[in-house]
Order: sequence, then structure tokens, then C-alpha cells
Amino acid sequence: MKFIEKQRNSVGYRRLLELQKIPDSTYDDVSNNVSKNDFIRNEVLTSLLEEQGYLCAYCMQKISLSNASIEHIIGQNYVKDSVELGKQHQINYDNFLAVCEGKSCKGNLHCDKSRAAYQKERQLFANPLENRIMQNIRFNSKGLIYYKDFIKIETIETLNNHADLYEDSNIRYDIHKVLNLNCQNLKARREAIINALKRLTNNWTKKGRIETELSKYQRKQSDGYIEFCQVAIYFLNKNR
Ligand SMILES: [Zn+2]
Repeated sequence: MKFIEKQRNSVGYRRLLELQKIPDSTYDDVSNNVSKNDFIRNEVLTSLLEEQGYLCAYCMQKISLSNASIEHIIGQNYVKDSVELGKQHQINYDNFLAVCEGKSCKGNLHCDKSRAAYQKERQLFANPLENRIMQNIRFNSKGLIYYKDFIKIETIETLNNHADLYEDSNIRYDIHKVLNLNCQNLKARREAIINALKRLTNNWTKKGRIETELSKYQRKQSDGYIEFCQVAIYFLNKNR
């Protein structure tokens, strides 16, 4: 995960503002599955993809218009007690993220596909729009993603649903359980990036080389960010 800054001047943002002004507009107008207006859905999704540098908002895998979908941060199921509140969020650009298909870990869903099972009972605390939270996302040498304090992989299974308790516990629960970001394949791919960087930087003594490498991962290219770039940014910053 990495911090995502919402672009209020994007085509998708403006399109949804227009849609909000039309009475009876619903998420069906832009929905992934039943869109009445494919072009609106594609415009919105393209803006989200550009904003995120073509990386899934949760796992940072590369995504494109053909395999990404729109995710609601405040899930439509979660605002069960307020129909009005639900309506406000369902076509609100600030509530949208672009995400992957969540299928890269064999038989083990992740990202919003895994979150679906939790959406009725809890809001999302590990929110990529919160820079304060994203600043504390870390990775160990085995590719494990964690929040603030390292957590043993065996401990993850014992995590409980911490809703209404401490924010830190809730964020951890989201990362490890709700979004399942430590499933085997994702963890292994992050570990491979760290290992490659370790080999590359092993004999580097000049500070400038690390800075150059770092800027490669920080820069948004025309085709977006490098896949899993935040893993490399975290590693290189630590070894500066
Ligand atoms: Zn993902």
C-alpha cells in the first residue's frame, strides 16, 4: 500500500460531479458489472488508474482498464443504517479506488475480493488516502507487510476483529485479514524485490547511487509506477 492523493481536476472526478446533479443517479450508472454507461465507468476508472500510477490501491500489483475494478472505501453494505449516507458515497469520487482482481494467491482471495466478506461488519481503517497511516506501512526482509510494529506470521492467525478498539489494531487486522495482503504469492513477490535490491546495493558506498535508484521508484512514468514500488522505496530509504 502507498499513499494516494486524490486528483480533483480529473475527468472522472468531474464526470461524477455531473452525475450527482442528476436526480436518481446511482452506482449502477458507473458500476463494474451492470454499468448503464460504459464510457462513464471507463472515464472514472481511467482517472483512478492515472491517479494511482496503474497500481492496485491495496497490493500494488500492476492493473489496467481491462482487469481493474472500482472499489468503495466506505462500502455500500456498511452504511446499512442510513440510505441517505449510502447514496452520498456510492457515486463519490473521493470514495473510489481502483483495485486488482484479487486472485493472484492460489485459492486465497485478497484486496477487495477478500474484503467483501467483512464489508457489512466493519469500515476500512487501512485507508490508502490517509498519508498519516501510509507513512507507517513497513516491509520485512521476507516480504511481509506490517503496520508500525513487526508481527510474526504465526500471530496473524490469532488476530481478532478489533472493531471499536484501538486504531492500530484495526489497521493491522485490515492488512493481514481483511485485505489478506500477506498471502503467499504477494509476500514472495515482495521478497524477490528486496532480494534483488540487496544484491544490487550490496557494494554501493556512494550515496548518490541509492538516491538515483530511489528516484526511479518514486517517479510516476507515463505507464505509471513500478509494480510494488513502495517495497523498494521503503528498503532504499532504510539503507540510505
Ligand atoms: Zn490488489
